[in-house]
Amino acid sequence: MRSLTDFDVLDIPARSYDAVVVGSGAAGLFCAIVLKELGLKVAVLTKADASESSTNLAQGGIAVALPREDSPDLHFSDTLRAGAGLVNPKMARILTEEGVKRVIDLIKWGARFERTPDGLLKFTKEAAHSVPRIVYYQDKTGEEVQKALLNRYRGELVEGALVKELLVKEGRCYGVLAQVGGRLTAFYAPITVIATGGAAGLYLKNTNPPTSTGDGISAALRWGALLQDLEFVQFHPTAFCDGEECFLISEAVRGEGAVLIDEHGRRFMGDYHHLWELAPRDVVTRAIESQKELTGAVYLDFRPIEKRGIDIYKRFPTITRKLLEKGIDPKREPVPITPVAHYYIGGVKVDTFGRSSIEGLFAVGEASCTGVHGANRLASNSLLECIVFGNRAAYGVYRDFMYLSRDFTEVRISATSYPSRFGGEFTLTDVKRIMWENVGIVRSAESLTIAIEKLSEIALSASGWEVRSSAILGLGIAVSAMRREESRGGHYRSDFPYEREEFRKHSQFSLADLERLI
Ligand SMILES: Cc1cc2nc3c(=O)[nH]c(=O)nc-3n(C[C@H](O)[C@H](O)[C@H](O)COP(=O)(O)OP(=O)(O)OC[C@H]3O[C@@H](n4cnc5c(N)ncnc54)[C@H](O)[C@@H]3O)c2cc1C
Repeated sequence: MRSLTDFDVLDIPARSYDAVVVGSGAAGLFCAIVLKELGLKVAVLTKADASESSTNLAQGGIAVALPREDSPDLHFSDTLRAGAGLVNPKMARILTEEGVKRVIDLIKWGARFERTPDGLLKFTKEAAHSVPRIVYYQDKTGEEVQKALLNRYRGELVEGALVKELLVKEGRCYGVLAQVGGRLTAFYAPITVIATGGAAGLYLKNTNPPTSTGDGISAALRWGALLQDLEFVQFHPTAFCDGEECFLISEAVRGEGAVLIDEHGRRFMGDYHHLWELAPRDVVTRAIESQKELTGAVYLDFRPIEKRGIDIYKRFPTITRKLLEKGIDPKREPVPITPVAHYYIGGVKVDTFGRSSIEGLFAVGEASCTGVHGANRLASNSLLECIVFGNRAAYGVYRDFMYLSRDFTEVRISATSYPSRFGGEFTLTDVKRIMWENVGIVRSAESLTIAIEKLSEIALSASGWEVRSSAILGLGIAVSAMRREESRGGHYRSDFPYEREEFRKHSQFSLADLERLI
């Protein structure tokens, strides 16, 4: 076990609950709402304000098989195709079938989605979906969803609670250790749910909020939980970046008709894929990278949307406002774009009810790896995964809560953080730069070797908890990427540019793997 914190639970204040949920995004809140409604004493801990999350930033919408011409079967086969041979079919069936009920729950709980004048739900289209099936609210669906969930949740919510370690002893989790108001506090519970979001924030250029540093995934690894598919990071093709500060331009913009053009004004996606701009994300991302190399720059042209009679200021108010603030009017000129890190596919390996490999520890949402996304997430399937598996995890928690002992007084857990070996001073930006330059859109044995060496040094010698925690997860990503000697979905190796049948399987990463490295 690799604790990054010195503690002894006997020396610190403690609180007890039936279940502790770490993270106030869509996954954590959905799970906590159901747990509370099942009668459990629940606390949601979140390191920033309750609304600071990837959920809050989601623009495009939620994929759901609600349109008349759609079916869970069709949604299932689109999900399977996008995942490049690695989607877990059982999990994808659950996602597409239960998704319909969960989106209806959101509507009942007050989330608004766009409707026609007759009051019917409107659906938009995104890459690799065979029909328009994305419900949305302007270009701020996530904010709307999070507001509805926060309104619905009636349990305890602790903001500014940075969860640093899990309280694990002999293969069982008894809660978490969090820093609240500068003080360590033990939050005991027979069940802990990690809902800390993804890890795209470990990259220098990304679309995520600063909270997405993979804290929960790193802690789960350090305290013995099995992780899965760490090498798969989804890079979004269209972000606008001003230096290292980037924001997403949703795929829904291309779904409504925007096109990609190169420095010469030529629409080029047809050279790379028959679906043009709506090809799978990894294809569009690499096409943009090579077209940038060939011609210098790539732009997203919104003007074809206007030609369809849609006012882009009204349809995409947040995106167009942000662009106008940067001095670019997408009604008049193409927008320079670049691919950046966006979504984390890997995470804590879980079963159909969110159980990890440690008793009493669950994971949901982007922090988990259910296998529904395979090697490449189908657009707008992630919020759906949060609500479907957030709900299922609540039932899994409730069931396990019935038989797990609630006597914490016997449990004494203490740990000493491993000492700094080299005495170097590193920052989170160092980790992010290494990840961006060496474990990014295009990887190779050479770049990954550099990353593994540097990240091991940081993991062993940094003094800050956040830097060490991030370097450890970065190391897991780099090693998993090194082991996968092929290209598949979001993982592209210039030295192994094709899929290889022997790698058509999920990868795993464990504490034993970590201990061999540091
Ligand atoms: C810009 C953007 C646009 C997107 N658009 C879409 C879209 O249109 N459709 C779609 O389906 N998906 C979209 N996604 C992806 C989707 O939003 C996320 O996958 C999803 O919201 C993840 O939800 P979550 O609950 O797992 O994590 P999050 O929403 O990220 O929540 C994680 C929570 O954990 C907390 N936390 C993290 N670490 C700690 C810690 N150590 N201690 C305590 N608390 C902690 C955070 O503060 C936060 O509250 C988008 C993502 C981004 C960034």
